[in-house]
Amino acid sequence: MKKFIKIAKNTLAKSNNINENIIFDKKGNVITSLTILMIFSFILAAILVLNVAINYNNISSESIDSNNFNYLIQDYKRNIPIITKESIGEISNKTIETHIPCENSNIAIQNKVNEKLKEVNKKYEVNQGLNVESEVLSISNSDDPFHIDIKTVLYVKKGNLEYNQVINQKVSIENLKDPLPFLMCKDHPTLIENNTKINYKDSLKYYFTQNNLENPDSYENASSPLIIKKCPYDPYQHHGDSYTLKNCIDNGYYHESADGSCYLCRLEGKGGCFHYGLETFIVPKKVDSLNLRSISSPDHVIFAEHYAGNPLEFYRYENLYEIIFLDSSHRAKYGLGG
Ligand SMILES: [Zn+2]
Ligand SMILES: [Zn+2]
Repeated sequence: MKKFIKIAKNTLAKSNNINENIIFDKKGNVITSLTILMIFSFILAAILVLNVAINYNNISSESIDSNNFNYLIQDYKRNIPIITKESIGEISNKTIETHIPCENSNIAIQNKVNEKLKEVNKKYEVNQGLNVESEVLSISNSDDPFHIDIKTVLYVKKGNLEYNQVINQKVSIENLKDPLPFLMCKDHPTLIENNTKINYKDSLKYYFTQNNLENPDSYENASSPLIIKKCPYDPYQHHGDSYTLKNCIDNGYYHESADGSCYLCRLEGKGGCFHYGLETFIVPKKVDSLNLRSISSPDHVIFAEHYAGNPLEFYRYENLYEIIFLDSSHRAKYGLGG
């Protein structure tokens, strides 16, 4: 700007000299004076236009900065649930490998996410020149058991731009492995998995015998899902329709349950908890007779409450029945004949 003001001053000084020359000249040409005035006005107008253009450029580069800043914050926030899910997965896999339950799953997740966020923050500083400070304040159960809530405080600064917020987000636990069977059978961990299902081999039989439960043999080589997947057959009463229960069991779906263990408690090896949680079926091997009785098949009944149920055939091929054992309240919940 100063440059243009200088030019204007010089021009003004020159035009004064010219005016003096005209006055001294006495040839008194009106057209010459007008031309000089017009040139002067034109220069002034040009300066004004340039001034406006420069201001506009400053404003738009500031708004580009602030757009970029907001974009980086949105990007950072989008990454928090992804990093959290990754952390939960790592903790879950470790409990599955070691058969050692998490002592305090929400604190373990919180610490792991904080470690990862520190690394992310360093990258933002190096790559974007952003000063980022963040900390997970809490990990807790969400209002639906297929999600976990995360609360994070985020502070970001770049130049004179600043952002400071506490953010609440939901993290899906779908597609994570269920660690509970591995922790419940940790004393005789012969169970194996094939990426989608668990085969208990004789681990559940051992668990039944240890806990003095009815008919341990009935759960030898039983199977249950490995991966958390939400059952789409909602309302659950529809499980009584044609082959719905067969489809649900073949796909290894999980259901909402007031008695079932939530994902955070599953990581701690608790077969049941007072949170609103999940339940799935542990399915006995195929049988050739329905003249049996054992513990009811929802996982929280097998791993916590231990009450019995009668066999329920959900598929038959020649002389082999596919069954679960089911008590009357679960039969009512799933519309399976009361
Ligand atoms: Zn289902
Ligand atoms: Zn719980």
